[in-house]
This record gives sequence, C-alpha cells and structure tokens, in this order.
Amino acid sequence: MNTQSTMNPTDADEGTPVSVKIRERIQASRKRFHANDNIAQFIEPGELALLLDEVEDKMKGVLNSLVIDIEHDHNTDNTARRVAKMYVNEVFRGRYVEAPTITEFPNVGHLNELMIVGPIIVRSACSHHFCPVIGKIWIGVMPNEHTNVIGLSKYARLAEWIMGRPQIQEEAVVQLADLIQEKTQPDGLAIVMEASHYCMAWRGVKDMDSKMINSVMRGVFLKDPTLRREFLSLIPRKG
Ligand SMILES: [Zn+2]
Repeated sequence: MNTQSTMNPTDADEGTPVSVKIRERIQASRKRFHANDNIAQFIEPGELALLLDEVEDKMKGVLNSLVIDIEHDHNTDNTARRVAKMYVNEVFRGRYVEAPTITEFPNVGHLNELMIVGPIIVRSACSHHFCPVIGKIWIGVMPNEHTNVIGLSKYARLAEWIMGRPQIQEEAVVQLADLIQEKTQPDGLAIVMEASHYCMAWRGVKDMDSKMINSVMRGVFLKDPTLRREFLSLIPRKG
C-alpha cells in the first residue's frame, strides 16, 4: 500500500524546522539576519509558537550536553521551555515582532527648544555571550517646525524594541538614532547610553563596577559644540 499518494501538498514541508523556512525567506529577499536585526516581516502568523517549540527542543539538547539530568532534577525539568520563552517572547522579542506603532503629530506649537528624555532604563544582552546588558539612555531632540512630535513614553517603547535583541552597545545606539530620526525628523538628535555588561561582572575580568558609555550625535548636535555641551551638562549621570 502506498500511503505517500494520499499526502496533500501542505504536508510536503512537514518536518522542516520552522527556523529553516524563515531563514529561506530572508535569504530569498537578500536581507540580513544578524543577531540585532529584526526579522518580523518574514515570520508568518502562528510560526512564532512553532519557533518557541523548536528553541525549547534545542535547549533540551544543550542541557543534555551539559550532563544535567532533566528527567529527574525537578529544578531543571522545565528549564528548556523557560529559557526558550525568555529568549523568544521576552529578552529577544525585538527581533521577532514589528516595531511598536507610534503616532506622530505635527509640531503645531513650533517647539524649537532642546528637549531631553531620560533616563530610560534599557535591558539587552550582548551578542558575544548572551549576558545581560543593563543601563540607561538619555535622548536629546532639537526639533524644528517640521519635526513630528511623539509622546515621551514612545521613546521608551522604541528603545525597548531596539534593545530587545542580542546587541552590541555601539550598534544599538546607532539603530535607535536611525529609528528616532526616521520617525521624527528633528534638526538634531543626541543619544547617550551608559550600561553595565554582565559578561564583565559574572565572567571574564569579574569587574562589577565598569560601565560602558557611548553616544551618537546627529545634525545640529554635531555642528554646534555649545548645544552638545548643554545636552551633556543636563543629563544627570552618576548613580
Ligand atoms: Zn559579552
């Protein structure tokens, strides 16, 4: 008896891991899928749940290879699922979901004074070790009459989406600056990020205190040193 002949076409790719299907779509459109890239447009409805199952399965393999008895150790019997959920639905969510919808309003008040938002708490992970990166960012915006205005809380939502990926701090601030620039079109944009990298505290040099600080300056913040100084003097770092 030939059961193959009863197979319907949707079964043809049964057994192909969902990550492979998503990757093939990305490659077909010649897009990048580095750790800090968003790939939401290539994920079809329902596939994120399948991806979660796939990551859980692979995570079980990691625990097995670490020679941890996940069958009998009640502390780790559900760890693979928890870690998969943490990656896909929480800490790396910014890779798998579309950008938050932000309503932009015209600048009817013609605001043209320096505006500073922060500190915004940011949580990310380094792409090198998948260790937490936790810190703060400050955003300086120099609007003009054509700049779109977005609510203060929206800056935090945009930051959360960018930071919710395995990141490199220098690239994260540039990605965030590009996104805010695109959404609001200000005359100038400045971002400062200060963060603790737990790969330096938990492992490696085991330095608990060092922080990495970096900044991006765009537009008038690049051209006008007085404005740049004003922004830097107004952000209350330390502590
Ligand atoms: Zn690291």
